[in-house]
Amino acid sequence: MKQKKFMLEESELPKQWYNIQADMPNKPLPPIHPATKQPLGVDDLAHIFPRECCVQELDQEHPFIDIPEPVLEKYRYYRSTPLVRAYALEEALGTPAHIYFKNESVNPLGSHKINSALPQCYYAKEEGTTNVTTETGAGQWGAALSYAASVFGLEAAVYQVKISMQQKPYRSSIMRTFGAAVTGSPSMSTRAGKDIITRDPRHPGSLGTAISEAVELATTTPNCKYTLGSVLNHVAIHQSIIGLEAEKQMQKAGEYPDVVIACFGGGSNFGGIAFPFMRHNILDGKTTEFIAAEPESCPKLTRGEFRYDFGDEAGYTPLLPMYTLGHAFKPANIHAGGLRYHGAGMIVSQLIKDGLMHGVDIPQLETFEAGLLFARTEGIIPAPESSHAIAATIREALKCKETGEEKVILFNLSGHGLIDMSAYEQYLNGDLMNYKITDDDIKKNLESVPEV
Ligand SMILES: *Cc1c(COP(=O)(O)O)cnc(C)c1O
Repeated sequence: MKQKKFMLEESELPKQWYNIQADMPNKPLPPIHPATKQPLGVDDLAHIFPRECCVQELDQEHPFIDIPEPVLEKYRYYRSTPLVRAYALEEALGTPAHIYFKNESVNPLGSHKINSALPQCYYAKEEGTTNVTTETGAGQWGAALSYAASVFGLEAAVYQVKISMQQKPYRSSIMRTFGAAVTGSPSMSTRAGKDIITRDPRHPGSLGTAISEAVELATTTPNCKYTLGSVLNHVAIHQSIIGLEAEKQMQKAGEYPDVVIACFGGGSNFGGIAFPFMRHNILDGKTTEFIAAEPESCPKLTRGEFRYDFGDEAGYTPLLPMYTLGHAFKPANIHAGGLRYHGAGMIVSQLIKDGLMHGVDIPQLETFEAGLLFARTEGIIPAPESSHAIAATIREALKCKETGEEKVILFNLSGHGLIDMSAYEQYLNGDLMNYKITDDDIKKNLESVPEV
């Protein structure tokens, strides 16, 4: 019998996260203040985020960071997650490649987001905070945060993009089931929301409007901190639990990946699976290839520019050094909601500049085709986001079929798609299409990015 699934014993679970900043040949540039253009320190960030997250955000020194015991205890509810050899997918493709996936859909919330929601809420609680707030688009992050807040006894207020709230009603029910207060954004509950509604009473909402409202709530409410589910360095640190486990599980399988692939929104699940392996490229001369799969309709890695830009549409956040399509960029309404973000995380942006990884952009229809093949062979319906990683994996596996190479490919299955069935429904009915943006559109959007 060929072994299909590789798990870790409880005693083998990682007790530290990995922080690639310490090992990077060129460190990420610092976030800067939009007015003074001065680099920001822990104190500048700590009135918005839990302080320990800010310390981790700017830590370029310590490669390994202890996971607090109460977080480990909660990780043990669902970790390790399985590393699976996708024999049936290999067979369907007729490829000599060995395909493995790390299944991050196997937890109460169905995506990797919970890996960072737990520590962010733990640190908030530890510093005496009583409330946390955030924004959510498709709702995976909001759901994970709502659960983590209830675990650590915090009140959670989530601003959900209004149009997503209407399109994906079950996600707000999930958040409310965990005890969170969910508000559609823009709302009349904040100044920012009122301003937006006054200007445009029928504004459908965006991540930009929701971020502005959540940040305003955090900065005007005592004992309330803001949390973010992607993009930032400390989120990638927490997500490294994925790759650290995968490293041990690949050892059990007796293999080492030649290619590591993940889908890319802000970079947290990509960094999570990739960075612990990239460490061996940087320090030990390994030659693994790292591929981040983004939507063709939101191609910041492959067609964006490396610039200082805002993290939100309204321009309330610090300026971050990143590959960006411009903070005013409005991506097409594709179903991979978690990948519709205009910029890439600071670490990933530097790594791309340094040639340690690269992006590929994938049309929407190809991702659904890949998702269907994966469902029919491996029995798991993937999140539309994760299907980008599957599509990139299939491309690599088919290259191996041509060349006869027996490459070992590892990809991250960031979540399942069971709450995204309306997207599959549309695909199956032939109602989905591809969206490619023109060079002119990209150029126009980048005009609003400030000169630094
Ligand atoms: C949020 C999300 C993503 C994209 O976010 P990253 O920070 O780039 O990982 C990908 N897949 C799923 C299932 C998500 O929920």
